[in-house]
Amino acid sequence: MKIQNRIALIFTFLTAGIILSLSVFLYIFASESISNSFFHRLEVRSDIVGHAALQKNKSQTSIYYDFKEKHLGDLPYEQHQVIFKKDIKKADSLRKRLPLPQSFYDAIVRKQPARFFHNDTSYVGMNINQPGENIIVLSSAVDLYGLAEMENLKHLLIVGFCISLVFVFTFGKFFSNQIFQPIRSIIRNVKGISAHNLNQRLTVDSSRDEIADLSKTFNDMLDRLEITFEIQNNFVSNASHEFKTPLTIISGEAQLGLSVPGVPDNVKDSFRTIFRESEKMEHLTNSMLSLAQTGFDGKKEQWEEIRIDELILSVKGTADQIIPANKVQINFDHLPDDEQKLVIIGNETLLKAAFSNIVLNSCKYSDNAPVHIVIRLEDAFVLVEITDEGIGIPNREIAQIFVPFFRASNTEKYKGYGIGLPLTNNIIKLHQGSIVVKSEVGVGTRFTVYLPHI
Ligand code: ADP
Repeated sequence: MKIQNRIALIFTFLTAGIILSLSVFLYIFASESISNSFFHRLEVRSDIVGHAALQKNKSQTSIYYDFKEKHLGDLPYEQHQVIFKKDIKKADSLRKRLPLPQSFYDAIVRKQPARFFHNDTSYVGMNINQPGENIIVLSSAVDLYGLAEMENLKHLLIVGFCISLVFVFTFGKFFSNQIFQPIRSIIRNVKGISAHNLNQRLTVDSSRDEIADLSKTFNDMLDRLEITFEIQNNFVSNASHEFKTPLTIISGEAQLGLSVPGVPDNVKDSFRTIFRESEKMEHLTNSMLSLAQTGFDGKKEQWEEIRIDELILSVKGTADQIIPANKVQINFDHLPDDEQKLVIIGNETLLKAAFSNIVLNSCKYSDNAPVHIVIRLEDAFVLVEITDEGIGIPNREIAQIFVPFFRASNTEKYKGYGIGLPLTNNIIKLHQGSIVVKSEVGVGTRFTVYLPHI
């Protein structure tokens, strides 16, 4: 899950917790206060009924009832039970009928407030004393209005809670989105920086906050990387240059030797070998030199539109020069009707070096058995499949063939240095492409190169 969504969720859970606790507190508080006020109202009525019952004079009793009717009115389901001291039978039957706990009766005896709530009904008990008489009044009523109020409050709190959750999550997402905006822009910019535009830098705003610090740190790291690349580049470039001249002289001398009349055949064979090997070395140093010359920093822009079919034809030409006995066949049957889709943006020298490495390897590791090259399209990519019937690569070693100086365990009888494929891989990556290798020992190897077309 993205940090942005995680923050929005944490924010929502925290706020939900706070709102929920507040709602529960509010509900309990309101419920307590409504129920207390109802108990109080019931107690007032209970007291009046008790005092009315204690009056010896009937006219005084009716005065109490009149007063209650006129000024206090009736409560829903209001009932009063007056128990005189001598009326033990009534007391027993009421005790059985009413769902009141022992503590309720104990409170009445102790003349403390006796209140009980059961099944929406509120019960109060009063112990009223008058000289010569002592009675207990049990009153009950249902607070319909209070119950409705509580139900309303419950609905209101639940709906309010749900609505506030939606709001909190939406705002949380919006704010976390805002907070991460600068980080996303850094990610976008950093993604755009690759080996061939290493001179690009992130914009650092003047806010002096953590984001500005991060951008500055990235820029410092890019500075250091650029210097390292520059040093590496210069080294490869200088070394390749130093190799180039002696190699040209060696192959020139070998050619001269071959053209001298009367040279014995075995000497001619040696000259041919010298010529062939120096050509190979020249090819290798040329690829390294061109890689270094083009540079990884994109400063020397040599990027142009290249037709992949033409490029592969010129690779075949190179293979013919270096390994005249090769059996490389190019299959043009799968070319798309729209020729524009064969065009890629890239550096011709580098791509030629990359494909030559793969094709020459295929010829070398199959002892010049047929090598098939197919060019076709797949979505936004041009695919070049190079398939040989050679020795194959042991399964567990396939992952390592792009590591510099790695050579598979079955290549003892073949000469090589293990730098061709790492260079090829770098070049293809530089062109936003990728290489997929499938191989089976004793059957052959297929290299599929994916390059984005325009
Ligand atoms: P090398 O100079 O050894 O050919 P590369 O970098 O070109 O170096 O290749 C690395 C290794 O990958 C080779 O040593 C070999 O083991 C393996 N490899 C490359 N291409 C093939 C192929 N077509 N068939 C079998 N093995 C291959």
